[in-house]
Amino acid sequence: MLLKAGERSKKSVIPHFWANDSFWVAVFPRCFNTNPMKFTYLGHSAGYLETGSEKFLFDPFLTGNPKASVKAAQLNPTYILLSHGHGDHVGDSVAISKRTGAPIITTFELANWLEAQEARTVAMNHGGWCKFPFGRVRFTIAFHSSSMIEDGGRPLYLGEAAGVVLETEGKTIYHAGDTALFSDMRLIGEDAPIDLALLPIGEHFTMGPKDAAKAVEFLAPKRVVPIHYGTFPPLVGDPQEFARLAKGKGAEVHVLQPGEALEF
Ligand SMILES: [Zn+2]
Repeated sequence: MLLKAGERSKKSVIPHFWANDSFWVAVFPRCFNTNPMKFTYLGHSAGYLETGSEKFLFDPFLTGNPKASVKAAQLNPTYILLSHGHGDHVGDSVAISKRTGAPIITTFELANWLEAQEARTVAMNHGGWCKFPFGRVRFTIAFHSSSMIEDGGRPLYLGEAAGVVLETEGKTIYHAGDTALFSDMRLIGEDAPIDLALLPIGEHFTMGPKDAAKAVEFLAPKRVVPIHYGTFPPLVGDPQEFARLAKGKGAEVHVLQPGEALEF
């Protein structure tokens, strides 16, 4: 369901008589989707996922992002999920974490670097799940780099880039971060059916529309939202071309403008 920013559907996805049966919902909360989730695309690779109990902020590059639909100060996440250590993903993470107390869940080296800047962090690495009160998270491989450029042009390497799998309230969300196409994406989709995949399509630094459409085949998600395009001139990947190429691969394709939201 496509919504404008700020809208929230009142429609429940479970039958009326069950939705009102608080006993069953209380006994099996993970089996009943009483609170549809709302994913708002914030521009570039940034997104905001509001569930019944939490607010997850992905790759919050907002300050200096010409496509950003909100300012960092307008967001109050309970958790921040970070795919890798480039400026267009780390963005406002530290400032938001310090202001809200939201921990930044990310890869080991990047977490330590952010911790040194007095952000709250949870350091993880690829492959293993980590349990949280809201569910669980794991990091997948991503074919990309992860570094900050220091004065003088020297790169400070911050471990490996990653994708993020978030399982919460009975749904699975995969944010691919920045990556080239890789066939092991099949394993991510096989492990848990993906309700929402966020895939880069911009070319130059990541997959373009053609490879991202192939990724849809590998991942078999229910829904996909293209990200990481149009922010800067080199990111030429066209979301409509992606939508055309991904058609017929079993996923709903939602091309969201920054500020638009999808409820599922
Ligand atoms: Zn990027």
